[in-house]
Amino acid sequence: MDLGLKNRTVVVTGGSSGIGLATVRHALEEGAHVAFCARGAERLDAVAAELAAEYGEGRICARAFSVLEPEANVAFADEVAERFGGCDALITNAGQGRMSTYADTTDSDWHDELELKFFSQIHPIRAFEAQLRHSPVGSITAVNSLLAYQPEPHMVCTSAARAGVQSLLKSLATELAPEIRVNSILLGLVDSNQWQRRFEAREDQTQSREDWFADLARRKSIPLGRLGQAEEAARALVFLASPAASYVTGARLEISGGVSRFV
Ligand code: NDP
Repeated sequence: MDLGLKNRTVVVTGGSSGIGLATVRHALEEGAHVAFCARGAERLDAVAAELAAEYGEGRICARAFSVLEPEANVAFADEVAERFGGCDALITNAGQGRMSTYADTTDSDWHDELELKFFSQIHPIRAFEAQLRHSPVGSITAVNSLLAYQPEPHMVCTSAARAGVQSLLKSLATELAPEIRVNSILLGLVDSNQWQRRFEAREDQTQSREDWFADLARRKSIPLGRLGQAEEAARALVFLASPAASYVTGARLEISGGVSRFV
């Protein structure tokens, strides 16, 4: 299927690793120009150099900053406008989860988590809104989690924040229509750097990577019997972000191997 992304511009936040990087690659494969960001300049620059060698420097724009800095998002949007003439699809992916129960989440943790989850959407969306309105195919696609609908007690503030983000996105789908479509994906467990870090911090350091991940899938009762791959999330993101999903807005797509229990 032609997704209609050839020569369009896709912006991906958190594009130097995991799901974001797989999304950047997939959008490049579809013929788009791609701009992406992450905080760590070293990894970002290495990834950008590798992609430029593969797809051509003229199709790639990478800038190191935190999406939590509003002015940096605006500067990035200006750079994208200058380099590519505007943005057609914004994919808000940057972030990470926080493991903590109600008892061990401090007020400062709550503030940090709510800031990360809400403003990693709000700042990039505000910065790119005018460009997206100007595009004939403007879209925003957010990475969210099943935790929004199926909270986990060991990720109490992440779950609460993710529910709020779904509410924000639903409102935006109405407020920004008809110029900009707004959708989300809800992830279960996807093998990425986040899970690699948790694997490296495992209790039993003798357990192999394969066994640790198989064990995790069993404990979480994932019907498809494994974690997802970053590419599997990326394919869904790029589809929703593309003109091929032209009548889809206000929607959420689960990429979870069937682990959700809500209807
Ligand atoms: P990774 O750690 O592999 O990738 C996260 C990316 O986001 C990196 O490029 C990171 O680079 C960047 N990033 C993190 N914080 C910021 C920030 N403040 N500003 C700009 N860039 C940032 O993790 P995943 O691929 O797993 O995560 C992608 C998204 O998916 C995240 O939002 C995560 O919460 C969400 N998610 C993932 C799940 C999973 O099972 N993998 C489950 C549910 C949700 P750098 O650190 O250099 O900034």
